[in-house]
Amino acid sequence: MHELMQIEMDRREEREMRGVGLEEALREAGKEVCGILSRTLEGRELSNEEALLLAGIDGADLMALVKTADEMRRRDCGPEITYVVNRNLNFTNVCVVGCAFCGFSRGPHAKDAYFHSHETLLGKAREAMALGATELCIQGGLPRDLDAFYYRDLLVAIKAELPGMHIHAFSPMEIAYGVEKTGMGLREYLLLLKEAGLGSIPGTAAEILDDGVRRALSPNKLQASQWIEIVRTAHGVGIPSTSTMMYGHSEQPEHWVRHMSILREIQKETGGFTEFVPLSFIHRKTLLYRSGHARAGSTRREDLIVHALARLFFGGRIRNIQVSWVKLGFETSLECLEAGANDFGGTLMEESISKAAGAMYGESVTAEQFRGLIRSIGRIPAERTTGYGIRRRYSGEEEEGGEAGAAREEAAKGRALDGTNCG
Ligand code: SF4
Repeated sequence: MHELMQIEMDRREEREMRGVGLEEALREAGKEVCGILSRTLEGRELSNEEALLLAGIDGADLMALVKTADEMRRRDCGPEITYVVNRNLNFTNVCVVGCAFCGFSRGPHAKDAYFHSHETLLGKAREAMALGATELCIQGGLPRDLDAFYYRDLLVAIKAELPGMHIHAFSPMEIAYGVEKTGMGLREYLLLLKEAGLGSIPGTAAEILDDGVRRALSPNKLQASQWIEIVRTAHGVGIPSTSTMMYGHSEQPEHWVRHMSILREIQKETGGFTEFVPLSFIHRKTLLYRSGHARAGSTRREDLIVHALARLFFGGRIRNIQVSWVKLGFETSLECLEAGANDFGGTLMEESISKAAGAMYGESVTAEQFRGLIRSIGRIPAERTTGYGIRRRYSGEEEEGGEAGAAREEAAKGRALDGTNCG
């Protein structure tokens, strides 16, 4: 009962929050928070100490942070909320790494283990192209017996048939595995993949870039320094990447700040991040949670803080802050899109990683649904390319009529309860 009352109070507070203007919100905030936010609005870079203070706020201070981030988003990105029409292809769920936060991976002999053939993947890629997708997002588990040149061969097979398709594929963990399997140097290997058609890489496998936290999440995974080296090297050879952070598990706010600080430094050096995607931890089916080593995912307050703080902390250097609707659900995603975020991510068409772990929103969304949701908060939908080129801006409602209302009903269904955390 107490919990339900708290949720109702939170929602009332949030509804009130939407009606409040920036100046009023700043007036209501404490002096220190108001000072930090005002200086950020004047263009001063947020320090780690200031970010840590903001990471712990609530109430009127949080309202002021949200309003400030929304204003910074307006200045950086304008009124559009972008999305990409893409398809996720998870070629295998067999993995030897054993991350404690993963609900997706299976042993090679599990009943539901799979490894799709090139032909199956090509069929899905053709289908995606026919449905208007401009991007394929390809990731998978790490099976012990993976062919050394599997990633390259998959790129070549898809590009031979669909040369115009952007391939966004292979996390730094998979890149490290490819390097290990082939025995090639990192730079040389990345150039090989680029030559084969790799357009960009997902900045997943970052979780929290702190080796203490990483050891608890997954002792077999690449270390923070390896993730940084792979991403820097990729940027250096002209392969851009996204950046991510998994939060809501065993980490503390200081880890968010250190993690974002590392990303900001990389971005100053390379300019290779296209976006930042906070990934809330989906706890229910994970060993990490069941063994008592993690909290039960993020709270709404944390979701708002992380997205808003990212907008301020990156100060336009990483211009795009993406919501992960698969993990947050639509309602919280929309709230985060009014708290500094500007991108809805991809339609996905198929997202077997989250689906396998029971996520409510893991499968797909149509571009029309995205546009309805975006309009429901008074913003302008725009379809983009992977690299944030605008393909089409939907400034009128002429072709979609009542989508906003229907989409809002969808949004009211809540957030994902289970899922995975592979990103
Ligand atoms: S998160 Fe990725 S690397 Fe870790 S167990 Fe799951 S599939 Fe394997």
